[in-house]
Amino acid sequence: MAETIFQKIINKEIPADIVYESENVLAFRDINPKAPVHVLIIPKIEIPTVREIIGSEHAALLGEMYDAANQIAIDEGISDDGFRLVFNCGDNGGQEVYHIHMHLLGGRQMKWPPG
Ligand code: 5GP
Repeated sequence: MAETIFQKIINKEIPADIVYESENVLAFRDINPKAPVHVLIIPKIEIPTVREIIGSEHAALLGEMYDAANQIAIDEGISDDGFRLVFNCGDNGGQEVYHIHMHLLGGRQMKWPPG
Protein backbone atom coordinates (compact mmCIF):
# COMPACT_ATOMS: atom_id res chain seq x y z
CA MET A 1 0.00 0.00 0.00
CA ALA A 2 1.22 3.53 -0.74
CA GLU A 3 2.80 5.48 2.09
CA THR A 4 0.25 7.68 3.84
CA ILE A 5 0.75 11.38 4.50
CA PHE A 6 1.06 10.56 8.21
CA GLN A 7 3.92 8.11 7.51
CA LYS A 8 5.69 10.97 5.71
CA ILE A 9 5.16 13.15 8.80
CA ILE A 10 6.57 10.38 11.04
CA ASN A 11 9.58 10.08 8.71
CA LYS A 12 9.96 13.91 8.80
CA GLU A 13 9.67 13.94 5.00
CA ILE A 14 6.99 16.62 5.24
CA PRO A 15 6.63 19.23 7.99
CA ALA A 16 4.01 19.25 10.73
CA ASP A 17 3.41 21.34 13.83
CA ILE A 18 4.40 18.63 16.32
CA VAL A 19 3.15 19.14 19.88
CA TYR A 20 4.15 15.78 21.42
CA GLU A 21 6.55 12.99 20.57
CA SER A 22 7.58 9.78 22.34
CA GLU A 23 9.12 6.52 21.20
CA ASN A 24 5.76 5.15 20.03
CA VAL A 25 3.44 8.13 19.59
CA LEU A 26 3.44 11.39 17.63
CA ALA A 27 0.95 14.27 17.85
CA PHE A 28 0.66 17.31 15.60
CA ARG A 29 -1.85 20.04 14.79
CA ASP A 30 -4.48 19.26 12.16
CA ILE A 31 -3.78 21.21 8.96
CA ASN A 32 -7.51 22.04 8.65
CA PRO A 33 -8.63 22.55 12.26
CA LYS A 34 -12.31 22.04 13.18
CA ALA A 35 -11.91 23.63 16.61
CA PRO A 36 -9.53 26.13 18.28
CA VAL A 37 -7.48 23.13 19.42
CA HIS A 38 -7.37 20.23 16.94
CA VAL A 39 -4.50 17.80 17.37
CA LEU A 40 -4.03 14.39 15.74
CA ILE A 41 -2.45 11.69 17.92
CA ILE A 42 -1.00 8.77 15.98
CA PRO A 43 0.99 5.62 16.66
CA LYS A 44 4.35 5.47 14.90
CA ILE A 45 3.55 1.97 13.66
CA GLU A 46 1.09 1.82 10.80
CA ILE A 47 -2.37 0.50 11.68
CA PRO A 48 -4.74 1.44 8.83
CA THR A 49 -8.03 1.55 10.74
CA VAL A 50 -9.38 0.77 14.19
CA ARG A 51 -10.67 -2.48 12.65
CA GLU A 52 -7.08 -3.75 12.79
CA ILE A 53 -6.68 -2.99 16.49
CA ILE A 54 -6.22 -6.11 18.60
CA GLY A 55 -6.73 -5.53 22.30
CA SER A 56 -4.08 -7.97 23.52
CA GLU A 57 -1.50 -6.59 21.07
CA HIS A 58 -2.21 -2.86 21.09
CA ALA A 59 -3.51 -2.16 24.60
CA ALA A 60 -0.32 -0.47 25.80
CA LEU A 61 -0.03 1.60 22.63
CA LEU A 62 -3.62 2.82 22.94
CA GLY A 63 -2.97 3.62 26.59
CA GLU A 64 0.00 5.75 25.53
CA MET A 65 -2.19 7.57 23.00
CA TYR A 66 -4.75 8.40 25.71
CA ASP A 67 -1.96 9.52 28.07
CA ALA A 68 -0.66 11.78 25.28
CA ALA A 69 -4.16 13.20 24.69
CA ASN A 70 -4.56 14.02 28.40
CA GLN A 71 -1.13 15.64 28.56
CA ILE A 72 -1.73 17.71 25.41
CA ALA A 73 -5.16 18.80 26.69
CA ILE A 74 -3.47 20.07 29.87
CA ASP A 75 -0.69 21.77 27.87
CA GLU A 76 -3.24 23.43 25.57
CA GLY A 77 -5.34 24.62 28.53
CA ILE A 78 -8.52 22.74 27.52
CA SER A 79 -8.50 19.91 30.06
CA ASP A 80 -10.68 21.54 32.72
CA ASP A 81 -13.38 22.74 30.31
CA GLY A 82 -13.46 19.40 28.50
CA PHE A 83 -12.70 18.14 25.03
CA ARG A 84 -13.58 15.44 22.53
CA LEU A 85 -11.56 12.42 21.36
CA VAL A 86 -12.61 10.79 18.06
CA PHE A 87 -11.44 7.93 15.87
CA ASN A 88 -13.08 7.90 12.42
CA CYS A 89 -13.20 4.46 10.76
CA GLY A 90 -13.73 3.71 7.08
CA ASP A 91 -15.94 5.44 4.53
CA ASN A 92 -19.06 5.89 6.65
CA GLY A 93 -16.93 6.99 9.57
CA GLY A 94 -15.46 9.77 7.44
CA GLN A 95 -11.87 8.48 7.54
CA GLU A 96 -9.59 10.16 4.97
CA VAL A 97 -6.14 9.03 6.07
CA TYR A 98 -5.64 5.29 6.53
CA HIS A 99 -3.23 5.40 9.46
CA ILE A 100 -5.21 5.46 12.70
CA HIS A 101 -5.38 8.82 14.41
CA MET A 102 -7.17 10.10 17.46
CA HIS A 103 -8.62 13.58 16.96
CA LEU A 104 -8.31 15.79 20.06
CA LEU A 105 -10.78 18.65 19.69
CA GLY A 106 -11.38 21.43 22.17
CA GLY A 107 -11.54 25.11 22.92
CA ARG A 108 -15.23 25.41 22.04
CA GLN A 109 -18.56 23.76 22.94
CA MET A 110 -18.95 20.53 20.95
CA LYS A 111 -22.32 19.54 19.48
CA TRP A 112 -24.02 16.16 19.67
CA PRO A 113 -24.77 14.21 17.55
CA PRO A 114 -21.83 14.93 15.23
CA GLY A 115 -22.66 15.41 11.54
P1 5GP B 1 -9.89 11.66 9.12
O1 5GP B 1 -10.94 12.27 8.25
O2 5GP B 1 -9.09 10.61 8.36
O3 5GP B 1 -10.41 11.15 10.43
O4 5GP B 1 -8.92 12.83 9.51
C1 5GP B 1 -7.78 13.17 8.77
C2 5GP B 1 -7.33 14.53 9.25
O5 5GP B 1 -6.02 14.74 8.79
C3 5GP B 1 -8.19 15.68 8.72
O6 5GP B 1 -8.75 16.39 9.81
C4 5GP B 1 -7.21 16.51 7.90
O7 5GP B 1 -7.43 17.90 8.03
C5 5GP B 1 -5.87 16.09 8.46
N1 5GP B 1 -4.77 16.14 7.51
C6 5GP B 1 -4.76 15.66 6.24
N2 5GP B 1 -3.57 15.86 5.65
C7 5GP B 1 -2.79 16.48 6.59
C8 5GP B 1 -1.44 16.95 6.57
O8 5GP B 1 -0.70 16.83 5.60
N3 5GP B 1 -0.98 17.53 7.72
C9 5GP B 1 -1.76 17.68 8.83
N4 5GP B 1 -1.21 18.27 9.89
N5 5GP B 1 -3.04 17.24 8.88
C10 5GP B 1 -3.55 16.66 7.76
